[in-house]
Amino acid sequence: MLKLNFDNSYIRLPDQLFKRSAPAAVSDPSLIRVNRTLFAALGATESALDDAELAAVFSGQALLSGADPIAQAYAGHQFGQFVPQLGDGRALLLGEVIDPEGRRFDIQLKGSGRTAFSRGGDGLAPLGPVLREYLVSEAMQALGVPTTRALAAVTTGDRVAREQWAPGAILTRVAASHIRIGTFQYFAAREDHEALDALLQHTLQRHYPEVAESPDPIPALLEAVADRQARLIAHWMSLGFIHGVMNTDNTTLSGETIDYGPCAFMEGYRPEQVFSSIDQGGRYAYRNQPGIAQWNLARLAEALLTLSSNPDSQLEDIREIIADFPQRYELHRAEILRRKLGLASAEDDDLALADDWLALMAADSTDFTLSWRGLANLAQDPAALDELFSDTGAVRTWRDRWLARLHTEGTPADTAAARIQGASPAVIPRNHRVEEAIRAAEDNNDFSVFDKLLAAVTSPFDPEGERSHYGQPAAPSERVYQTFCGT
Ligand code: AMP
Ligand code: MG
Repeated sequence: MLKLNFDNSYIRLPDQLFKRSAPAAVSDPSLIRVNRTLFAALGATESALDDAELAAVFSGQALLSGADPIAQAYAGHQFGQFVPQLGDGRALLLGEVIDPEGRRFDIQLKGSGRTAFSRGGDGLAPLGPVLREYLVSEAMQALGVPTTRALAAVTTGDRVAREQWAPGAILTRVAASHIRIGTFQYFAAREDHEALDALLQHTLQRHYPEVAESPDPIPALLEAVADRQARLIAHWMSLGFIHGVMNTDNTTLSGETIDYGPCAFMEGYRPEQVFSSIDQGGRYAYRNQPGIAQWNLARLAEALLTLSSNPDSQLEDIREIIADFPQRYELHRAEILRRKLGLASAEDDDLALADDWLALMAADSTDFTLSWRGLANLAQDPAALDELFSDTGAVRTWRDRWLARLHTEGTPADTAAARIQGASPAVIPRNHRVEEAIRAAEDNNDFSVFDKLLAAVTSPFDPEGERSHYGQPAAPSERVYQTFCGT
């Protein structure tokens, strides 16, 4: 029997925070994939489980010993509008597992049927979005971006009704926690101080134990969360990643990326880029992401302040933390972009150097991934990127400045190139490749395209990737212009 070391702390919190719920029955669970590396890292002791047993576990048909499934309550601002009750409408937290290093992780089923929070929804997940989340979250992990992970994917044998019928599937997701800004908003809106305070203490113990000791934990927590969010968004931006639905219910306190819906990596660099079909106003466009993270933090601040016995005295501190977010973001951005420029030291002008490179990329909408990765070649050959740019003279002028900067810190071109290859990926989950993997699975029950793509995107810095078709942008006929939630 499969064993994980469960210790479910969330169900020890006040009852208002969750509703107990059981996974729905499915007709014919079948294992697509289990992430064996992650499984082992979580401390799973597994004595020769076969695929049918794993399918039963990861479809919720067989409960692991120690699991105690609940749906978590949360609210959230969706596209700027406050919705006082969202909650896990198609997900169940099976419980929390302590790994061999003593770290706590949530294990969650997504697509496991209706819960008390389902409203009009069916509680199910179509196969496409499950495969997309699996691919993109595991790619993000390999890229070094804080993220929830994919532990397993199964098909249910049932069909789910969307614009068209689609095969049903369930994703098993692992996260440091599923506590969202919207979780705090849910109890703040209800003026439920008991639950809100319990949630605050739980969050502090779990994610910010160093802050728990602070005499003034509310601003201290806000600052710590702001820092993790600033770092996270700087990371996304450095990879051309667009989350697509940065609602407050999709923003974690842990600083992990969560809820991969209509997310996408840009190909041609366009700061105003939007992919999500539901993002009509472009609220969550690529370039808006840092500002939205700041807006979301202000919503967290409001929720936390309802707990304060002396909100007026804390208001100034809190305003300053929110107002400082752009500077905090720029610090993280500078650190990441220096690595992408092959630099080992820090100078004041580095961000300007990086921004001038980005401006050259934007002028021709060059492929975001190829351009940054291409700096490894440009360091050694002034003509290396001529094919990407129309104004090759401007690229050479910029290159001279960049090489001079490398020279002053004593970095030779080949050292810079090696650093760049470790900092900028050759392979990201390109939208047309993701679509191709989903189509093969949905239309022909063929998961080999998914498996190969997963292997490529989880070795993103491998130079082999540059030569493979995973490293190449979509041809015009393959280009993806819009992505869909598919929930
Ligand atoms: P998300 O798209 O994951 O950010 O979800 C937003 C809200 O809609 C959450 O409360 C989800 O639980 C709920 N939701 C999304 N899809 C479904 C579905 N198929 N059935 C029930 N609830 C859903
Ligand atoms: Mg969500």
